[in-house]
Amino acid sequence: MRVWLAIAVVLAASCATNPVTGRRELNFMSEAQEIAIANESEPQIKEEMGVYNDPELQRYVSEIGWRMAKMSERPQLPWRFTVVDVPAVNAFAVPGGAVYVTRGILPFLDTEAELAGVIGHEIGHVTARHSAQQYTRQVSGQVGLVALGIFVPAARPFGDLSGQALGVLFLKYGRDDELQADQLGARYESRHGWDPAAIPAFLSTLGRLDEAAGDRRGVPNWLSTHPEPLARVKDIQPTVQELKAAGGSFATNREAFQQRIDGIVYGDNPEQGIARGSTFLHPGLRFRIDFPARWEIANSPQQVVAKAPGADIFMILQLVEQPRGRNIQEIALNSMNRAGFRSVSGERTTISGLDAFVGVYEGQIADLGAGTARAAHIAYDSKVFVVAGLAQNSAFQQADGAFLGSLRSFRSLSAAEAENIRPNRVDFYVVRAGDTWASIAERSGGVITPATLAVMNNAQAGSTPQVGSRIKIVVGG
Ligand SMILES: [Zn+2]
Repeated sequence: MRVWLAIAVVLAASCATNPVTGRRELNFMSEAQEIAIANESEPQIKEEMGVYNDPELQRYVSEIGWRMAKMSERPQLPWRFTVVDVPAVNAFAVPGGAVYVTRGILPFLDTEAELAGVIGHEIGHVTARHSAQQYTRQVSGQVGLVALGIFVPAARPFGDLSGQALGVLFLKYGRDDELQADQLGARYESRHGWDPAAIPAFLSTLGRLDEAAGDRRGVPNWLSTHPEPLARVKDIQPTVQELKAAGGSFATNREAFQQRIDGIVYGDNPEQGIARGSTFLHPGLRFRIDFPARWEIANSPQQVVAKAPGADIFMILQLVEQPRGRNIQEIALNSMNRAGFRSVSGERTTISGLDAFVGVYEGQIADLGAGTARAAHIAYDSKVFVVAGLAQNSAFQQADGAFLGSLRSFRSLSAAEAENIRPNRVDFYVVRAGDTWASIAERSGGVITPATLAVMNNAQAGSTPQVGSRIKIVVGG
């Protein structure tokens, strides 16, 4: 169990000048408060999402960001730019100058100019104080950050994120804010010689990207936080034309960008555990478990949550922090007690040869109210894992069979099995005569749909890939 520290923001209404528009406006947050939010949220975001382990790529992204931020209206902010290790296609900004890009968005960008456009857009949300205003609204609306207990799905992978921990950071902007951020991004990047036409280009790509395209892993995607991309393609055109008419030479640096993303992880990163169908494998912690068939699995560094299709029935797997007790039974009862659950029944047993305690408990489940849990505490590799099925009391009996089947499937992975679990990665391929998006997707391991592959390469799903062109593909691990 991990406890989120609440970010304390002392709200003092004051009138401040908007650094971008120069207009005076009611503002609930001073610059010092903005910076405090960036500083305090940074370790939480990094812990929750992970920092993508590629120092060269991190440097590359930071340099692009810094060049634009230094020339912006707020060069004095402690800007920082981080690629977070999540497969969702997104980028977001925290007030105070912290900009995050997911590794999942990178394969969907075509050029360095598009990456600069995404980062410039997020810088624009910060310089124009959109995120500070949004944050103010959210916090003053009594949302705030809450402590996550043992049975609160972290970051609510399946629900409305706005009320929970990181959800506060995934602010949904209005169309006016989006247009202004697009305009600012176009200005920032064109000042450095990047082609501002990259902004409508990536907006078109992200607009085409199906919201359900395999990127629902605990973090909402860009479309849900930056709405109406296709309308914005039109809205931004006059600015792009104006900037280009002002003269200068504009580059896209396509080659440099594509070199940087060659080999980056696509989809789940096995370092954090990986879902294959309804099976969840963790080569680092050396275990696997089968969740019930067709349940959706969401993984985060702290826990794995599986959800029954169309029902509020969950399974959660996580490590027990600081297990207390002389044996697995005491550890189980203590940890459930700490989480506010009362033991109904239970027994000492083994699961795949591992010492375990399986019990039924009653307690309050976040959002579900009074509920029943079927939980297995399993001692393995000097750690205690807990796998729990959770349902409202009325739904428990029917779900319990699936819970038991699943928690009994927990088992260790051998070194060889762990070694064989590798991530999918971005690679490049030169199109040959007769290739289709479907045949290319199939030949590289079927780990990406033909439609997503087309979108990743700036093409319509029904089109034919151009013979001789070098395209991005995703190859299986
Ligand atoms: Zn935006």
